[in-house]
Amino acid sequence: MLLAEKQSLDRQHVWHPYASMASPPPVSMAVAAQGTKIRLADGTELIDAVSSWWCAAHGHNPPAIVAAIQAQAERMCHVMFAGFTHEPAIELAEALVKQLPAGLNKIFFADSGSIAVECAAKMAVQYQVARGQTKRCHLAALKGGYHGDTLGAMALSDPNGMHTLFKGILPQHFFAEQPKIRFGARWDDADFESMRLLLEQQGEKIAAVIVEPVFQGGNAMWFYHPEYLKKLRKACDAQGILLIFDEIATGFGRTGKRFALEHAGVLPDILTVGKILTGGCVSLAATITTKHVADTVCSGEAGAFMHGPTYMANPIACAAGGASMRLMESYDWQGAVLRIERELKEQLEPYRSLPAVKDVRVLGAIGVLELHKLPSPEQVHALVHATGVWLRPFDRFVYTMPPFITSSEEISRITMAMGHLAGG
Ligand SMILES: *Cc1c(COP(=O)(O)O)cnc(C)c1O
Repeated sequence: MLLAEKQSLDRQHVWHPYASMASPPPVSMAVAAQGTKIRLADGTELIDAVSSWWCAAHGHNPPAIVAAIQAQAERMCHVMFAGFTHEPAIELAEALVKQLPAGLNKIFFADSGSIAVECAAKMAVQYQVARGQTKRCHLAALKGGYHGDTLGAMALSDPNGMHTLFKGILPQHFFAEQPKIRFGARWDDADFESMRLLLEQQGEKIAAVIVEPVFQGGNAMWFYHPEYLKKLRKACDAQGILLIFDEIATGFGRTGKRFALEHAGVLPDILTVGKILTGGCVSLAATITTKHVADTVCSGEAGAFMHGPTYMANPIACAAGGASMRLMESYDWQGAVLRIERELKEQLEPYRSLPAVKDVRVLGAIGVLELHKLPSPEQVHALVHATGVWLRPFDRFVYTMPPFITSSEEISRITMAMGHLAGG
């Protein structure tokens, strides 16, 4: 089949993310991906400056992960996880427990990040019900937050995002103002006032607070002060409210620490991870909690956590996860992220003077240009192909979250392309 025919079939039948099916946006035909590059059908290569939605942190198709997937596929692609266990799940759980702060050691595997968030919310509610706190059936979250696209996760995400469109079907939760004090700026208690008031007034109805620690990604691309998390931990403890950290975007090194919670030195009761978990190879996520929460959840009427998806702990995904964890230990990821952070700061900061640029922010391997207004999708598409740098701006943000293995020369190409998008 000719490339043009394939692309025409795609336009007729295949729906793409956040895309119109009536008049589909331009898409490129990807045929291979290796390291920092995605190769297209016409032979051109693009530097993947967004790690394919923040996942491929060790580059695309790392040989060690590919080998683990192949070996597992030959032995056993899948087996149901009720009544069975298997080595890939056990090994991945062990690797996670080793790198997580002590105490977070009960692991529930989920199919995707959104599902992990749903599981965290269900766990929190089951925990409260088991303690006789049956009124606690709501959660609190932050404006500007992003926790996924399924109904339950969307209901916890920024109430002004897609939320408004689906208002009728979404469960109602409580939202505090977005933290305004920047990462690295001087802390002021006033920043916590909105959350303090919310918990004071509605605390009895709240099972848990969910936040993305330090970095609000999918909706706001915003870095806030870690002190906020310390205040939040104290306020939750004072009222028997659980604290959920959604580290699906930040987990495994993205902000320069293995987990973003390390910036604050605060532990949640429940942690969600995903994205980099399998090195960007297969969908897998996890909801991780403490012995106390797990014991309480299972002491309730149900006697168990009531969730169990068909493909839970898929062996191929778990094998990819285990290999990805080992790969992370095999090189100086932190040195690489800090080098990228330095380069992004040096090269993006000068764009602050461009008229189109409202703000510039960098933390770890995340660089953000907040614009007054984004260029059109057609302009972005043209620029991507002119520069050979794959960027996927959204809302007001031109950003990069490159693989940690991205070279200095490639970072320069990425920041140049970002500057062009900002009219520089
Ligand atoms: C991406 C993301 C999710 C959703 O994960 P999916 O795998 O896309 O369902 C949830 N929370 C955060 C913080 C994310 O960045």
